Amino acid sequence: MDVFELIVVGGGASGFMSAITAAENQVKKIIILESSNKLLEKVRISGGGRCNVTNASWVPSEFIENYPRGKKKLLESFSRFATGDVFEWFQDKGVKLKIEDDLRVFPISDSSLDIVNCLKKNAQSMGIKIDIKKFVKRIERVDNDSLFKVFISKDDFLFSKKLLISTGGHPSGYRLAESLGHQIIKPVPSLFSFSCKDNKLKECRGVAVKNVDLEIYLNNKYYKSQGDLLITHWGFSGPSILRLSSEAARDLYEKKYNFKLSIKWTNLDLYELNNRMNKLREYNGTSNLCNLRPIPSLTKRLWVYLLNKLEIDNTKTWSSLFSKEKYRLINTLLNDEYQITGKGPFSEEFVTSGGVSLDEVSFKTMESFICKGLYFSGEVLDVDGITGGFNFQHCWTSGWLAGKAISN
Ligand SMILES: Cc1cc2nc3c(=O)[nH]c(=O)nc-3n(C[C@H](O)[C@H](O)[C@H](O)COP(=O)(O)OP(=O)(O)OC[C@H]3O[C@@H](n4cnc5c(N)ncnc54)[C@H](O)[C@@H]3O)c2cc1C
Repeated sequence: MDVFELIVVGGGASGFMSAITAAENQVKKIIILESSNKLLEKVRISGGGRCNVTNASWVPSEFIENYPRGKKKLLESFSRFATGDVFEWFQDKGVKLKIEDDLRVFPISDSSLDIVNCLKKNAQSMGIKIDIKKFVKRIERVDNDSLFKVFISKDDFLFSKKLLISTGGHPSGYRLAESLGHQIIKPVPSLFSFSCKDNKLKECRGVAVKNVDLEIYLNNKYYKSQGDLLITHWGFSGPSILRLSSEAARDLYEKKYNFKLSIKWTNLDLYELNNRMNKLREYNGTSNLCNLRPIPSLTKRLWVYLLNKLEIDNTKTWSSLFSKEKYRLINTLLNDEYQITGKGPFSEEFVTSGGVSLDEVSFKTMESFICKGLYFSGEVLDVDGITGGFNFQHCWTSGWLAGKAISN
């Protein structure tokens, strides 16, 4: 009977990292089984084809704050393999990385293919067998639980001493984990934009606003985020929205994505806004409201939309603005509300929140506490991060830890 030392189920970022690390640490017979006909497909399409490999934040206790699910457990993993190690790992293998102003890390070539090719080339040169179009249907423990029997079909199966499940957010991976005794936290989407059925808002599509504050109140909890916002033809997107979708992912799912979004369009407070508007009334009284904005960073299109929303005639002059109208404007700039009716049609950087329950896995080794010789890495676990390279960092870290532990 031919027995592998390690079978990796899933040929994505974390599966490759794990297989290569195990091979570099003298694990000999390794095979990666990938169900599709494409390896590392998500790496290829990631970051708009550039692959945001990680994030250049160096302090693990701060780094973990970017993971709405996983936080505390990840401290243990990141203290062993973090951003700096990823830099070294890829640079040693010939892929130079660069840090952008917002701390996101990309290959210097701006091409995700550098990462894909690096992982493929290193796996091949280490003698790792890679089989595509091999969908793992079922796994059994045999030979007094010392081996895993991995079924592609009834008559097509392989044996292995150790097994890594790195199937990302694919439902089959959760079923495999469950069949081996694991509990699955219900998978729900994270990192999505918001749909809003305000037809007039469409006039502002393409408008980007810097540094807004967002808030959602759901199930007696406040979710907040700050950052740039983009108005799209279906509603809202941009980093601040994606972050909020991630923080609130589970409650939003429960509410079927029907909720109120509050937007604070400016970092000025009530007093400052009032002062500005009083000055406009006093010194620029003959200017039309639509032509002179109290916050120049708000585009004219958005400003006119807000005036129209409040049914304030945008052609009237600042001196004819009633005090009541002024306070309604201030109130809207500080706390504008939108009814969100669903997720946006595109998933910018869709990841799954939920997966294998974290209490059942060691974050030193990624080995299951329930099934000896079984390991997990990447998105199949109940870990997910916000945008900015955090999801791949978790893949590299968990993959590396599993690969190391498998070799021991
Ligand atoms: C459009 C997009 C852009 C993204 N951009 C970024 C980014 O720039 N930075 C970042 O940090 N994150 C990004 N992400 C998230 C990131 O891609 C994922 O977190 C990461 O790919 C997860 O890696 P993984 O190895 O866990 O799983 P995956 O990459 O999903 O790999 C799992 C593999 O397992 C295979 N598989 C599943 N079930 C089976 C089975 N039963 N048998 C055999 N094979 C199976 C699948 O076909 C797949 O190839 C992006 C995601 C998307 C969708």
